[in-house]
Amino acid sequence: MIEKSLINLEKTVLVGLITKNQTKQVLNEYLDELNFLTYTAGGKVSKRFTQKMESPDPKYFLGKGKMDELQSYVKVNEIGSVIFDDELSPAQQINIEKFLKTKVLDRTGLILDIFAQRAKTSYARNQVELAQYQYLLPRLKGLWTHLERQKGGIGMRGPGETEIETDRRIVRNKINLLKKKLVSIDKQMSTQRGNRGALVRVSLVGYTNVGKSTIMNSISKSKVFAEDKLFATLDTTVRKVVVDNLPFLMTDTVGFIRKLPTQLVDSFKSTLTEITEADLLIHVVDISHKNFEDHISSVNIILSEINANDKPIIMLFNKTDKYIKENINHLENHEIGFEDKSLTNLKISLKKNFKTDIFFISALRKLDINTFRNELYKKVREIHITRFPYNAFLYPDIK
Ligand code: GDP
Ligand code: MG
Repeated sequence: MIEKSLINLEKTVLVGLITKNQTKQVLNEYLDELNFLTYTAGGKVSKRFTQKMESPDPKYFLGKGKMDELQSYVKVNEIGSVIFDDELSPAQQINIEKFLKTKVLDRTGLILDIFAQRAKTSYARNQVELAQYQYLLPRLKGLWTHLERQKGGIGMRGPGETEIETDRRIVRNKINLLKKKLVSIDKQMSTQRGNRGALVRVSLVGYTNVGKSTIMNSISKSKVFAEDKLFATLDTTVRKVVVDNLPFLMTDTVGFIRKLPTQLVDSFKSTLTEITEADLLIHVVDISHKNFEDHISSVNIILSEINANDKPIIMLFNKTDKYIKENINHLENHEIGFEDKSLTNLKISLKKNFKTDIFFISALRKLDINTFRNELYKKVREIHITRFPYNAFLYPDIK
């Protein structure tokens, strides 16, 4: 069945560079992800433009010939937006937009747009708005003023026309106001967190779309929104969970993604507080994704940026039902043969590589969930009885 919205999807073109540090294969992986992001934002990719260059052109990012090619493609095919995988300087963005006479976005702009679309609570909306204004501030001059903003579409959600086109001072004031508002909500939230008492707090972390919300649902029997799109939800969900009578709090957090701009991590610091205050992290990985090892490193980088990298952690490899061995091209790193990429061998090598607890499940098909749940119980129990020693007898120690 074709979704109704497919008919109205905005036509887009993706652009990326092959450089010394970014091979064709790596670029293709990034562009696959950018494609998924575009789809999540409500776009349809018509074509990819790539070019091999030492470094991006300071004025137009691409070389002159490629730009001409892109320009005529955009015109003939009525392309609504051109999306660059790398961050464009404000000047580049304006130059390119004038040249192509269409909307131009970079990965950051696209991610911000998805966030704007998906933020539900006023807290999340404030955080996105703050990030959007910070992103816009250096780009105010000339950006989009020659375009019809009323058209809407990708990159156009969020702060309205008047704010963007008036001067920077207004935007700066807005930024200050939002920051103050967030500080006051932060205080409220920290009181709320305080009120939750000494219950053990477990936080699900991981790349976007790996199955965190699905796992949350299967452990807590609650209904958290899960969808096969990037950043299906932006808001943190906290649930009280009971496993074998032992109560604890479980948090489902926003997913991480590669090339996440630092300004975004900054705006989402408060959302990420749930992670920094957790007693135990569950790092969820989609083992069926061919780039899962890159995903793990991206998540680890963000965890260390928010100083949460030395917390107790369980590695939880999900989607074992979907694992396709041809997908995995990283086994060279695991010192096992190139021939045998079976799931069994991958599990063995991953177990060797991670010094922490590690489990393999399928949350969707409910495979091996119990072994993981038992371990979770054991870990939570350990922390719980340090806080409530007189409760130890209530919760049997399982071997
Ligand atoms: P999140 O972004 O990490 O919260 O991921 P979600 O829980 O929203 O799941 C993303 C997509 O992956 C959804 O379409 C889920 O149905 C799907 N999914 C989750 N777990 C599994 C699994 O074990 N196997 C398969 N095949 N799909 C899964
Ligand atoms: Mg989710």
